[in-house]
Amino acid sequence: MSMNGYDHLASAILKTALDSGADLAGFVAVSSMKQAPTHKLLTRLPIYEVIDFSESDTAVAPEEVPIAKCRIELPTWAETLLIIALYHPEDKPALDYFRSSSSGGSEGNLQLIRINNKVIRWLEENTSTKSRQVPYGIDKGGIGLKDAAVLAGLGVIGKNNLLITPQYGPRVRLRALALQVKLAETGPLDFDPCLTCDMPCRQICPRKALDNKIFDPMDYGISELPAREGVYDRDACALESDKRIYPDASIPQKEEVESGDLISVSCRACEFACPVGI
Ligand code: SF4
Ligand code: SF4
Repeated sequence: MSMNGYDHLASAILKTALDSGADLAGFVAVSSMKQAPTHKLLTRLPIYEVIDFSESDTAVAPEEVPIAKCRIELPTWAETLLIIALYHPEDKPALDYFRSSSSGGSEGNLQLIRINNKVIRWLEENTSTKSRQVPYGIDKGGIGLKDAAVLAGLGVIGKNNLLITPQYGPRVRLRALALQVKLAETGPLDFDPCLTCDMPCRQICPRKALDNKIFDPMDYGISELPAREGVYDRDACALESDKRIYPDASIPQKEEVESGDLISVSCRACEFACPVGI
């Protein structure tokens, strides 16, 4: 395919993703992801534990995408990752509620899976390019989605350790689709809202999870640390979310969840405190 042909294909894939409901979309090379800080860091941490609400992910064949703890395990034919983002506003908390009755996890993740499925269908109908959903969890063969989104030009890692997008601040959810075609990366962005910010994200944290240096570049051999200065305490942050797992009538938009579903209301204080985006 000519360079123009690849550009045309890239534009068509991005348009399909955006027309299908993605709020942001971009590309990152698989080779770049293998050097991403999250994966270098994870190899040096204790086994990455995630709360498993049984996300089996449609279209992921276990024999081709083996379960990995710390390494990228993408299909060998994958050259590029399409990274899509869904805006998650404060008044739609149900997007984050996990559906224990569903194979897709939260409603937000289900929406992202559906968008990727539309891109897969478009590729099947219009090209010979293979594609496959990338699982959300790193323990299931997923990738560091925030790193991928940075490299794809969707945003930057903020001082709250979240992806900060110019359009929506940190209020986005992410997912990836593996593509069997080499396409030009769409990032990174020249954008840094944290430089001139007085960090309300850190001040508001109920667990003080962004106060103390946890990661040192000397210990981990990387300069790009969580929350920039290595101050993100994931265990403290997890405590704030873990304590909120309950099927409780006081939860907003509970009616949007099937009866019997488990509900995990994440702490999003450092998201909502960030002034960036709409
Ligand atoms: S609140 Fe300020 S310092 Fe924190 S992530 Fe947002 S822009 Fe960056
Ligand atoms: S999600 Fe909550 S507990 Fe975790 S870092 Fe942000 S404010 Fe702190």
